[in-house]
Amino acid sequence: MNPHDEERPVLQCLAALFADYGDTLYDGSRREAVTALQHALQCAQLAEWAGAPPALVTAALLHDIGHFHEGLAADDRTDDGHELRALPWLGQHFGPAVTEPIRLHVAAKRYLVARDPGYREGLSPASIHSLALQGGPMSPAECAAFDAEPFGADALLLRRWDDAAKEPGRRTPSLAYYLVLAGEALPTDAPPRTAIAAFDAA
Ligand code: FE
Repeated sequence: MNPHDEERPVLQCLAALFADYGDTLYDGSRREAVTALQHALQCAQLAEWAGAPPALVTAALLHDIGHFHEGLAADDRTDDGHELRALPWLGQHFGPAVTEPIRLHVAAKRYLVARDPGYREGLSPASIHSLALQGGPMSPAECAAFDAEPFGADALLLRRWDDAAKEPGRRTPSLAYYLVLAGEALPTDAPPRTAIAAFDAA
């Protein structure tokens, strides 16, 4: 199934993306202990256990779909900007309560490394590797700017779940279950669905 060349409802596109890329373990220094799908489901599960609303559970589920593209982790030495890549497409379907925590989830790591002395110790080797590529700890001025972000607090929550969602073998609900929740996060006056080609163009 190719999700990139057909017009389909957004939830079907998301299912197709996970079908195509969910088995990915990433490569080289970005390798994690769980697949991309397991990571997404565990992250959504942690958000749900914390009582997060559907939009934030959806952000947790989808926060890494910017990784889902050809040439995944082809270069270990540059920041892949994955938190930004899917936003133009996601923003056509979901509101800022979904897209903003995703946009900020890498910045949230840089913020927490600067503000929480024990935070760095809990990061996976892959996250520590990418931290340097992403700019390292935030400066005080960058932290102040992050504090002013309307969805900064949600991004910090997402970041904590992201970091904990790497446990091999943990049981979670299915992708279908979380896509139903994602459907609840869609605006009721959503415009007609557009092709996922915009995802590639981002
Ligand atoms: Fe992640």
